[in-house]
Amino acid sequence: MHKKLFIPGPVEVHQSVLTAMSAPMIGHRMKEYAELHGRVTTGLKKLMFTNDRVFLATSSAFGVMEGAIRNLVGKRCANFCNGAFSDKWHEVTLRCGKQADAIRFDWGKPVTPQAVEQALSTGKYDSMTMIHNETSTGVMSPLKEIAEVMRKFPEVMFIVDTVSSMSALKIPVDDLGIDSCIFGVQKAFALPPGLTVFTASEKALHRAAGMEGRGYYFDFMEFAANDDKDNTPSTPCISLIYAMDTQLERIFAEGLEKRWARHADLADYVRGWVTGRGFELFPELRYCSQTLTCSQNSRSIDLAVLKKKLGEAGFAFDDGYGKIKGETFRIAHMGDMTRTDLDELFCAIITIMPELA
Ligand SMILES: *Cc1c(COP(=O)(O)O)cnc(C)c1O
Repeated sequence: MHKKLFIPGPVEVHQSVLTAMSAPMIGHRMKEYAELHGRVTTGLKKLMFTNDRVFLATSSAFGVMEGAIRNLVGKRCANFCNGAFSDKWHEVTLRCGKQADAIRFDWGKPVTPQAVEQALSTGKYDSMTMIHNETSTGVMSPLKEIAEVMRKFPEVMFIVDTVSSMSALKIPVDDLGIDSCIFGVQKAFALPPGLTVFTASEKALHRAAGMEGRGYYFDFMEFAANDDKDNTPSTPCISLIYAMDTQLERIFAEGLEKRWARHADLADYVRGWVTGRGFELFPELRYCSQTLTCSQNSRSIDLAVLKKKLGEAGFAFDDGYGKIKGETFRIAHMGDMTRTDLDELFCAIITIMPELA
């Protein structure tokens, strides 16, 4: 039996998108691929509000998150850490042999513009990483305010992970001045995993061109050279790119404004449901994510039992990530989800635990 996914990634994939993946194969050096690639990257530029280069990498998000470090970190990197994925990005930065500091916030807290300003004012850094939407804690950091601070530090590469937020709300990459915006497709974008999209500003490409030790697979310069021919350095996951082509069509058919409004509505709906049952939200309301809700287990319910029984009933449920497992639970509301889907989950939860009715 398929368990319907309410975990924050991978998420449910629409049947028409899955079907698109079974299209007959083409060669990536054939003109058919160049057409597909050109169409998809054009759509992505529209979605991301950017005129920068948009590249497609065959890997999960961390491939490019590591690649961005290898291409863009010269002197020293400030890794802003407020959850499991941003902590790991700091680890990755160090493992790439780069000088880096973790600027840490308690789990459940956002990255703040003040902390960014304070760290970068030291003049120690030529690059920074942050995660817009920390999926481990359900926190969305104030990207617009941080971007305003970043304007004061034009020499610092602004590298942002939008894995679990891109397409769920407006993230205008160029207006925000993001040098490299990275997202894996299995979360807010709602495709099967294995493909990562990233942008590179002119400044980023210039930095990369002079960087030692970029490696090959994620070398931004290789991506740029191949992009001139609507192509990729290595054989891409063509089936997933077909899927992306279909998903972009679906996204634009729904309309961006409507897609953002649907996500805002679902976020309100889930927050209302959990708080209405006596659970407290893990982040402060104004930093709560628009794509998933991380709730404290304020009623001390047995989350392991709930997860198991929901599994038997056909629902995949998340009982917290890493060090906050069991103390929190997370409900995803991203991608193609609707209120009807959430109602199914809520109904199943109440059947298992009638005291939550
Ligand atoms: C899931 C996730 C990642 C990890 O991505 P992989 O595709 O597993 O490499 C990174 N960042 C965020 C914010 C995520 O939610």
